[in-house]
Amino acid sequence: ITSFADKKVAVFGLGGSGLVTAKALVAGGADVIAWDDNPDSVANAAASDVPTRDLHDIDFATLEALILSPGVPLTHPQPHWTVVKAKAAKIEIIGDIELFCRERRAVAPGATFIAITGTNGKSTTTALIAHLFKTDGWDVQLGGNIGTAILSLEPLDSDRVYVVECSSFQIDLTPSIDPTVGVLLNITEDHLDRHGSMERYAAIKARLVLGAQTAVIGIDDDWCTTIATDLDRARKPVERISVRRPVTNGFFADRGRIFEAENATVHQVADLDGIGSLRGLHNAQNAAAAIAAARVIGVAEPMIVKGLKSFPGLAHRMEEVTRIGKVLFVNDSKATNADAAEKALASFDHIYWIAGGKAKTSGITSLAPYFPKIAKAYLIGAAAEEFAKTLEGKVPVVMAGTMEAAVKAAASDAALDAAKESVVLLSPACASYDQYRNFEKRGDHFRDLVQALNPARTTVE
Ligand code: ADP
Repeated sequence: ITSFADKKVAVFGLGGSGLVTAKALVAGGADVIAWDDNPDSVANAAASDVPTRDLHDIDFATLEALILSPGVPLTHPQPHWTVVKAKAAKIEIIGDIELFCRERRAVAPGATFIAITGTNGKSTTTALIAHLFKTDGWDVQLGGNIGTAILSLEPLDSDRVYVVECSSFQIDLTPSIDPTVGVLLNITEDHLDRHGSMERYAAIKARLVLGAQTAVIGIDDDWCTTIATDLDRARKPVERISVRRPVTNGFFADRGRIFEAENATVHQVADLDGIGSLRGLHNAQNAAAAIAAARVIGVAEPMIVKGLKSFPGLAHRMEEVTRIGKVLFVNDSKATNADAAEKALASFDHIYWIAGGKAKTSGITSLAPYFPKIAKAYLIGAAAEEFAKTLEGKVPVVMAGTMEAAVKAAASDAALDAAKESVVLLSPACASYDQYRNFEKRGDHFRDLVQALNPARTTVE
């Protein structure tokens, strides 16, 4: 990263992406001072030849910029001390994606940069866009919030396509974000603890599409509809996405079928029916947005159809683990609240539901419309008692306690079921911390248990 060559900058936050950023700046000739509140991270950075010094002792007026990790609070619940110092010294506060944008403008303006944000569906859409380009043979770099830090990707090159997931925290640190295509999926209430108000949260997300050459925007919520109108007023090209109604310019879904509309001429692009990794209306939104982004850059339609069919999906998000006889086993461990679990319950019909864990305050009363689809519920973890009360008299309940017991009981009940098709669904509507380190560990445990089931004994053909 050359934009701070020979200039003095501070890098605060030396976890995964912060350390990569500090190294990239050092390699580009910047005079770097790196620091973290965690001494282990500082030691780790020093061990890889990044100059470290306590930023408490530094006069920020001598710095050109403060480069922050996205986890460091800018405003809520209160600004981090480095932010307070940087604001007082009137120096800019930016993140690694901003460095990427500046570098792209300087050395490879022809490189395709697709940035994706939204309250929900970011990772799925980002992975799907990358997959569509790969299917069509492009040189794809996938990163940002979804995994690989953006500055760890292959060097900027005009022939490469950079597909980058951006959280609102990252956009907040990227004042000049200017993607070739900016994708904004949806805006609903989330992360207000960190951003303060819905207005501010929406304004941050909006910047990603306002700065884009072409915007792809889901218009199924009021916040995004307003942003799309603002884009029209600014005479920016906009592809509208809806899973609720037809649009005149953009892509819309009618159940699983995705249509492209251009000045009201409509044709079907794809049919998601039978694509297990893209089940549900929410995934139709993700798929339509991904198709739009790929079309804007020029991925051929047959390749898009091929890519959709071969998309493996992401682990822990309605991940199809296996099918034993007529029973499908689905790992939706990422569903850590009732809203997310609702998406899964809406996507299946005859459900053996494994739920529970560390409950969120909202509980599962909002899921009542789906209770008739649940054949039985297997409750685990700290929330079991509370969930049992909500389900009482409506859904038969097994107080399983552990994942082992839940999988065993659900698998044998489902196998004995005469129904045509059923699903054993882990979609806990809870955080995992009472029994697991994180939702990934929980989902891995479920998958391992399912894969260890003996098909000969659990299947009734
Ligand atoms: P993110 O990266 O934004 O957290 P993911 O793609 O990881 O999103 O999906 C996480 C969960 O959010 C999914 O398991 C599903 O329950 C829900 N979800 C996914 N896409 C959407 C969408 N377009 N609208 C609403 N909810 C969604």
